[in-house]
Amino acid sequence: MSDKVSNLIDITERESAADDIWTDFRPIERITLELAQRYHYSLGKQSRFFIELQNRRFFATACGSCGRVCAPPRPLCPACLQPTNWRELTGEGRLETWSTLHFSPGTNADVAALQTPYVLAYVLLDGADTLFPHVLRAEGESLRRGMRVRVAYNEGPVSHPIHLMVFVLA
Ligand SMILES: [Zn+2]
Repeated sequence: MSDKVSNLIDITERESAADDIWTDFRPIERITLELAQRYHYSLGKQSRFFIELQNRRFFATACGSCGRVCAPPRPLCPACLQPTNWRELTGEGRLETWSTLHFSPGTNADVAALQTPYVLAYVLLDGADTLFPHVLRAEGESLRRGMRVRVAYNEGPVSHPIHLMVFVLA
């Protein structure tokens, strides 16, 4: 049977007692299945941010009412709930705080590929009012609050478009 299917089927015959009424059901069949799933999901109103990362451009959103600039972008201003507009930033900023991670959650191939330990930083981008959390390619011991950092762009391929960018020391 196992040569008729592409997946591996293991059948292990176990010895049974003569009075075992379940003899015919004793073989253990273990089937190794490899499942691949492809699914589509929307990055929603933030899609332009991810598309522009491919173009090596960094976009935030600015509120036309109160002026708050959000990076990561927000379609609605969190302060006054008004719709925002796209605003390009230089991608340069200041390191505010960081953590050195010794374990990768491996939530996707990009994260699983990170060499531990790695640094997760909160960066205040020039012209923005909010902190942007992302991977900073640097040694954790060398970091000091206020250091200048900038966005660097990966050429890919990546599993999730957020990994088209990474922070590096400026
Ligand atoms: Zn606002």
